[in-house]
Amino acid sequence: MESRDYLFKVLVIGNGHVGKTSLVHRYVNDKFNKHYKITVGVDFALKVLPWSDTETVRLQLWDIAGQERFTSMTRIYYKEASGCIIMFDVTDSSSFRSCSSWKEDLDSKVTLAGGSPLPCILLANKCDLSPWEVSHASIEQFSKTNGFIGWMETSVKDNKNINEAISFLVEKMMVNR
Ligand code: GDP
Ligand code: MG
Repeated sequence: MESRDYLFKVLVIGNGHVGKTSLVHRYVNDKFNKHYKITVGVDFALKVLPWSDTETVRLQLWDIAGQERFTSMTRIYYKEASGCIIMFDVTDSSSFRSCSSWKEDLDSKVTLAGGSPLPCILLANKCDLSPWEVSHASIEQFSKTNGFIGWMETSVKDNKNINEAISFLVEKMMVNR
């Protein structure tokens, strides 16, 4: 049987310290490293995801490393992306507030070929910690009004909802392929 491969570039953006590098590391290598390491430049990692009997998805996850304080990236970085993950830390409300700037930056610099926005999922990370500085209701409201495909609470540390969230994004990207 003929098998098909799909390659998707997925951007992982959000403020510093929200868990982006940990997410990529967890998803690709199934590891969590609790030591905080500031990465500089742009890193990407490849994940091969068997999707069906006849389809294989290759995800190229782009981690913006060390450039988070600008809440803005160059167009080159966003170029030819198929999807996006915007992350914040539930115990840090300023990281949540920044998500609107990240989403605006994304939508102003890249669209799908037809001009519609890239599918983008919002991740409320570090859900294992408390207290939360952001309510479920405000996340839900924000996700709806800002054109996200949806949001999920995740814990990279406890490996909660990571595969689920990325699979949900892949489903949306497969529709646009
Ligand atoms: P980045 O700056 O967005 O790339 O964030 P990092 O991946 O470097 O993570 C920043 C810090 O948060 C590190 O100390 C991680 O170990 C920690 N971290 C990441 N995800 C989680 C999580 O889900 N729960 C908890 N408790 N800590 C996390
Ligand atoms: Mg990082």
